[in-house]
Amino acid sequence: MIPAAFDYQKVRTVEEAIAALAGGGKILAGGHSLIPAMKLRLNRPPKLVDIAGISDLKGIKEEDREIVIGATATHAEIANDKHIKDNFPFFAEGTALIGDMQVRNHGTIGGSIAHADPAADWPALVLAADAVIEVQGSKGKRRIKSTDFFTGLFSTALEDDEIITAIRIPVPSNGAKTTYQKFAQPASRFAIVGCAVMRFADGKTNIAFTGVSENVFRAGRAEKVVSGNPLNDASIAAAVGAALQGVSILSDHYASEEYRSHLAKVYLKKALLAVG
Ligand code: FAD
Repeated sequence: MIPAAFDYQKVRTVEEAIAALAGGGKILAGGHSLIPAMKLRLNRPPKLVDIAGISDLKGIKEEDREIVIGATATHAEIANDKHIKDNFPFFAEGTALIGDMQVRNHGTIGGSIAHADPAADWPALVLAADAVIEVQGSKGKRRIKSTDFFTGLFSTALEDDEIITAIRIPVPSNGAKTTYQKFAQPASRFAIVGCAVMRFADGKTNIAFTGVSENVFRAGRAEKVVSGNPLNDASIAAAVGAALQGVSILSDHYASEEYRSHLAKVYLKKALLAVG
């Protein structure tokens, strides 16, 4: 449980962080995923680049009809923010369910989505909200749609020297409803199944799952069934029947494939009833 030796550099700007990553360094944000992985020697970065002091990466604001969440905003800050509670109540609902108080006070949204743990809550929440991930690296800045960001188990579209700087989400028109329903592993609180749903005023419905498969995913077939249509017993049953078609379901010592698949259906039904 002792990490391999590493260098440590605290940086004050994004540019300084990008330069410091050259040669195989790794970003350190809240440290609540990276440090445990280093202690288990699953990860042995030669250098940690601590971004906690970069003021440009902090805070939550509204800008041009988008909510912009700085990459180092903590789970707890997001859960308590007025913009978030007003526009994306499921972010507050979901973050309040992450781990324990210490994890919520130190863990960051940027760290969570960069880590791309298949059981983490944020990936499903940002996918369901149509968020865009703003990143910066040695080749400049770019924006990545959340639907293109998560590429597999613990892997993302980030290049080695790219840093997530912010998460941008369009403010929905009045009448949008959101929910996050999670069946949590009782010790860690990671999702055995997490289902995030955002239903817009025009009926367009985004459905994202975490915990169910090796990668977080949008349940496109279920979305088609309910988008623009009334939510009733028949449409919900059809969406539940369609949601996992073609999805490879995880099986581990927490939940078998059959049990996890059952949970995913139950939690999707709960979520659709909650936004109906
Ligand atoms: P770090 O650990 O600092 O970094 C994680 C990874 O992301 C590293 O590879 C790092 O290099 C990279 N990274 C960090 N920030 C950036 C950035 N801005 N740009 C590019 N790369 C970056 N999570 C849940 O979702 N649900 C839970 O219920 C839950 N329970 C937990 C319980 C415990 C006991 C613990 C220890 C953790 C738990 N977590 C849970 C994980 C927690 O939310 C982590 O804090 C989070 O996943 C990672 O955020 P971090 O800021 O700590 O990132």
